[in-house]
Amino acid sequence: HATILLSRSDVQKLLSMEAAIAAVEAAFTAHGEGRALMPPKVYLELDAYHGDLRAMPAYVDGAAGVKWVNSHPENPARFDLPSVMGMYILSDPATALPLAVMDATLLTAVRTGAAAAIASKHLSARAPRTVGFVGCGVQARTLLEAHRAVYGDTFEVLCADVSEHAARVFAEEARGRVVSLEEASGADVVNASTPARAPVVKRAWVKDGAHVNAIGADAHGKQELEPAILVDGRVVIDDWEQATHSGEVNVPLETGELRREQIHATLGEVLAGKRPGREGARITVFDSTGLAVQDVALARVVHAAAREQGLGTSFDFFR
Ligand code: NAD
Repeated sequence: HATILLSRSDVQKLLSMEAAIAAVEAAFTAHGEGRALMPPKVYLELDAYHGDLRAMPAYVDGAAGVKWVNSHPENPARFDLPSVMGMYILSDPATALPLAVMDATLLTAVRTGAAAAIASKHLSARAPRTVGFVGCGVQARTLLEAHRAVYGDTFEVLCADVSEHAARVFAEEARGRVVSLEEASGADVVNASTPARAPVVKRAWVKDGAHVNAIGADAHGKQELEPAILVDGRVVIDDWEQATHSGEVNVPLETGELRREQIHATLGEVLAGKRPGREGARITVFDSTGLAVQDVALARVVHAAAREQGLGTSFDFFR
């Protein structure tokens, strides 16, 4: 009855982006078809520490588990730690035996990149010639990897960040170009992944035909896009409860700049064929807050691969 413990490097060895995209796509479809269980995320707001912790349980396609994860934007500068770290507990739904406890930091970054690339695949007008990155941090890496997994190495990478250093390092890694926020926002596909609490991407910068992945807003009060982008665009959210509380739409809904009726669908509904995708839209926007079903789907893939390859450390919590 041992539990498999898996470190970040174990997870890295076991999880390919291709497998992640397939698992996350299936999880969104299950969510859209109403086959998944996913109570709302629970937030522990740690205002005094300038951060928060979240519990994210889910069940989908025979896999159950919970992620315990945070957002502490000051971590890199103050403590030399990533701003997002997580642990995953994967449980056997039949007995509740903990099958695996694994690092979920990489898991979070991978599933986030995968979701955005799935949204790009289903909502973009065509394969992008340019992909813009507004914010060149941790998520930008997996956003790029996932877009390359979907489209191949066929697009130019435009890198913009308030930190010139961050943009330069990412551009070198990505074989891309450092550009202004305006130029990155004018790409065919725009990936915004900053912790901003005021719009960074302006309406005038986003061109017709573009698809925008709004990744950064995942807590109340966060916002990266000028609301006019949402009003002029077709907005696809990941989940009603989460997006309206903490996604890109949360601030403009509160100020009245966006109405609920202007939100088109969830990504799962589009994947399940219940709602149209791009057809007829000028701009499409995917508002991602990060779903627990994405995590459990990947944790299952990692656990299966660990068993197959005999990787990880066995530990008996109940001995
Ligand atoms: P990070 O700290 O590694 O990177 C963020 C980058 O954004 C940094 O390079 C920073 O310089 C840059 N930045 C900050 N403010 C900016 C601004 N106003 N304009 C341009 N660039 C700016 O963080 P990360 O791990 O990449 O996460 C980024 C955001 O994504 C966070 O808000 C995080 O909470 C969120 N996130 C969302 C999901 C999801 O599923 N939607 C998942 C993980 C993280």
